[in-house]
Amino acid sequence: MFDVIDEGAIYIINGLNKNNYEAYLVGGCVRDMILQKKPEDFDVATSASPDEVKSIFKKTIDTGIQHGTVTVRVNNKSYEVTTYRIDGEYKDNRRPSNVKFTCSLENDLARRDFTMNAIAYHPQIGFVDPFDGQGDINRKIIKAVGEPGQRFNEDALRILRAVRFSVQLGFDISPPTIKSAIENAHLIKNLSTERIRDEFFKTIQGRYFDKFKLFAEFAPYIDVGLAGYIKENMDNIVKYAPLCGGGLTGLLAMFFYNYPPDKTESLLKALKASSSLARSARLVLEAFHTPALGYTIRKAAGIAGYEHFEITVGMHMSIAEAEGGPYMAYAEKLSRGYDSVKLNGPPITLKDLDINGGDLHGVAEGKLMGWVLKYLMGMVLKYPFYNKKSLLMALAKRYVEKAGPNAHCSNFI
Ligand code: ATP
Ligand code: MG
Repeated sequence: MFDVIDEGAIYIINGLNKNNYEAYLVGGCVRDMILQKKPEDFDVATSASPDEVKSIFKKTIDTGIQHGTVTVRVNNKSYEVTTYRIDGEYKDNRRPSNVKFTCSLENDLARRDFTMNAIAYHPQIGFVDPFDGQGDINRKIIKAVGEPGQRFNEDALRILRAVRFSVQLGFDISPPTIKSAIENAHLIKNLSTERIRDEFFKTIQGRYFDKFKLFAEFAPYIDVGLAGYIKENMDNIVKYAPLCGGGLTGLLAMFFYNYPPDKTESLLKALKASSSLARSARLVLEAFHTPALGYTIRKAAGIAGYEHFEITVGMHMSIAEAEGGPYMAYAEKLSRGYDSVKLNGPPITLKDLDINGGDLHGVAEGKLMGWVLKYLMGMVLKYPFYNKKSLLMALAKRYVEKAGPNAHCSNFI
């Protein structure tokens, strides 16, 4: 059925079969292969216990042994091999408090979230697909395995996963499943922020952004204050977000294009994004309203750093492509201006100045030295050709003379 199946996965399945255990590819990799997409990773489900898996393969890591998962390393790649299991009781609508192993593949498939994720495949035997996941993939439908209300009550993350898969794959969610997801949306409050963050980030990286509209139903239950912004800006978010390059930073900046940069940073931190990602998104957004002039571009690129300013420029180009009209003239001017700054490499940060604190000893000290450097930076941003030590020294002396020890930088820029 599939042209090429990952060699390491076949090696693992064969190894388990030779030892008289069942083993199948399951979950996302089977779904992706049916969709002719390259799977990110290959998961194997087996009747062997974790200890048995460990005794068969040389290199293994106890990743989630209490849940029955052993990572097997083959040719420097990792494969998650999980013993067939039934989930125990769910507490607080998230993750089972315990799991039980089972010898039935069908039981293992029944605990999975959606029919498209509950298909097993064996290279010789073929598909095991008790919930007609293949049919739902062909119909482009996301459907809960079993009774949706019960499944969302067991683990409310499945609600956000449904939206995420819809945006990633362009599939619709089946009417009973979506109805139940909306009815149970309040359960999202019980999820850990980290799990919500992971789903949110995967969702905004999805390609079929018109499906994102549904997210508005669930945003009010995510405690970081997303809902109001999303509600007001949904149409533009849907229009702009998929156009943006610049990786996750670019997507986040595009998503929050109309939200204050400092609030975006706090919101992302509340969502447990890394501080560096939250900071990058802020820097990209702070540069967002830069006029397309040489001086302003140099100044903004100096503050944001090239890598961030470049994302800002990409955002404007994407918005311009979506909007057309006068916006395009601005975006192109900004982009040309930025290209020329990057090409010529003018001084845009204190590090680029042809003078440093050491040179200024004797002219200004302490706080005053800080102001002098800021003043010189302002001059050089305006007139890049001023960036010569002798000239900067003369400017510094004049500044100190004119302004005296109580100088305030902004008077002079
Ligand atoms: P991707 O790796 O692209 O995020 P995936 O479907 O592989 O998608 P994983 O989170 O890697 O998702 O999970 C692997 C499989 O485990 C899923 O395909 C599904 O069968 C099952 N699964 C994962 N999370 C849940 C859950 N919350 N409830 C039920 N089954 C789940
Ligand atoms: Mg996966």
